[in-house]
Amino acid sequence: MTNPYRHCSRCGGSELRAAGEREFVCGACGYRHFVTPFPAAVALVRDATGRLLVCRRAHEPGLGRWSLPGGVIEPGETGEQAAAREVAEETGLELAPQEFRHQATLPNEYWFQDYLWPTLDLFYTARVEGTPTTRPDPAEVAEIVWLPPDQALALDFAFESNRRAVERLLAD
Ligand SMILES: [Zn+2]
Repeated sequence: MTNPYRHCSRCGGSELRAAGEREFVCGACGYRHFVTPFPAAVALVRDATGRLLVCRRAHEPGLGRWSLPGGVIEPGETGEQAAAREVAEETGLELAPQEFRHQATLPNEYWFQDYLWPTLDLFYTARVEGTPTTRPDPAEVAEIVWLPPDQALALDFAFESNRRAVERLLAD
């Protein structure tokens, strides 16, 4: 694993040496820096006919490609709360956390600040009545579509974990 840290975050020293797969230790003061997965919540929201909500991304990474609504889990949140919050922020759909059911946990990678960070994506399913009107946040989402899961698989997904979760949805 390469090192995303240029300098020691405690003393500013620039001699960071690898100590194992995911640990980088400052040669000057011994402070230990880690690269560990960031947990993220991702939502598989389906309408009354089983169609899946998919977003075209309005920002990097994966600008113009497709993904499921989701994002990094904030301190103190459950996965279900994070899924509900991300869905509301990105699509305008207001769902309660208890409407989300854990489906799968899959590793992923996310290009951010010049480094490919590991993430751990927690996928949750939810159903909505009818086909509700969405209000995508233009800073995050360029377009929202509802597609049968088998058709959604034909999209150019920005993240392999999203594709695998849709495949699991089809297998269930
Ligand atoms: Zn140091």
